[in-house]
Amino acid sequence: MMQEFVFPGLTTRVVFGSGTMSRAGEEVRRLGHERALVLSTPHQKADAERLAESLGDLAAGVFAGAVMHTPVEITAEAVEAYRASGASAVVSLGGGSTTGLGKAIAVRTGADQVVIPTTYAGSEMTDILGETANGEKTTRRSPDIRPETVIYDVDLTLSLPVGLTVTSAMNAIAHAMEAFYAPDRNPVIELMCRDAMTAFRDGIPRIIASPHDHDARGRALYAAWCCSTALGYVQMALHHKLAHVFGGSFDTPHAETHAILLPYTTAFNEEAVPDLLSPIAEAFGGGSAAGGLYDFARSIGAPQSLGEIGIEEADLDRAAAIAVKNAYQNPRPLERAAIRDLLQAAWEGRRPG
Ligand code: NAD
Repeated sequence: MMQEFVFPGLTTRVVFGSGTMSRAGEEVRRLGHERALVLSTPHQKADAERLAESLGDLAAGVFAGAVMHTPVEITAEAVEAYRASGASAVVSLGGGSTTGLGKAIAVRTGADQVVIPTTYAGSEMTDILGETANGEKTTRRSPDIRPETVIYDVDLTLSLPVGLTVTSAMNAIAHAMEAFYAPDRNPVIELMCRDAMTAFRDGIPRIIASPHDHDARGRALYAAWCCSTALGYVQMALHHKLAHVFGGSFDTPHAETHAILLPYTTAFNEEAVPDLLSPIAEAFGGGSAAGGLYDFARSIGAPQSLGEIGIEEADLDRAAAIAVKNAYQNPRPLERAAIRDLLQAAWEGRRPG
């Protein structure tokens, strides 16, 4: 008997290919805009300036101040620059930090967003905005936050350093992992997630061997789109909660935190829903979804223990307490002692399952 489902439809227009960044102007015009502000991090400023140049009269300037976790002070500066520029849209060129800034501007001003992602973090397909104010991270969801158009250009990912390629891929796989057991899952998202698992499994080792392998980069970026769609259209659970706890309360780096936690959060929930996670076990081998992900992470050189990113063993009690403070949906009940055990294994880097 087929499970009941609701498929909400996908609202974001997606342009995927090689050299597609050159279509940014066409996409801005298609949304009805005459002027757009280009956004980036300081690190990608030169790329943003090249993009602005190619946009010609459509470019209202470049704001290259995006940083991790979307601090509201930076957003305030960016909104001022946006208003002063006379733009009615933004073009966000970069990873999740730049996409986050574009979303923060959009939710305050009604700007339309064209996003050109250059990592696999997956913010571009979602209606989620995480922001920090006074050192505290809050998250909200709203239809105004979801970008109107996403342009995936494989060429832009050729420069993604191998270390970030690896952790960013694990970050993306985490979205798919939680989508497989999401209470609001549907067959479209499940198919996309299955395809993403094999695309990452095959693509990432080839990228490590040859970072400019265009075909492998294309497969990885396609997989990132699938995983971003999963993140944007079904509910996440324990894994994303724990990543948020470490990023928010211990200031750990985003992609690495996801990469380290993933085999352990998978093991925790695999006890409750092994059948739902079987597509991961099938894709990665290893006897279980958690074991397969651990072995894959090891084979591609991902960081594997919380100790490696500066977490002390003494921090684990506090992290477990924060993780169970507010109730949220998860396929297995969230008991503090069991979460503490999960964190111990992740701190030590022990193979689960
Ligand atoms: P990032 O955007 O901070 O990028 C990391 C660094 O890599 C930056 O300096 C960036 O300029 C550089 N970089 C990016 N792409 C590059 C490329 N192709 N070549 C060379 N350098 C490149 O990191 P991220 O992991 O993409 O994003 C993390 C942030 O995104 C976090 O703040 C996280 O909370 C947020 N996020 C939000 C959502 C959401 O749905 N709201 C989803 C995923 C991530």
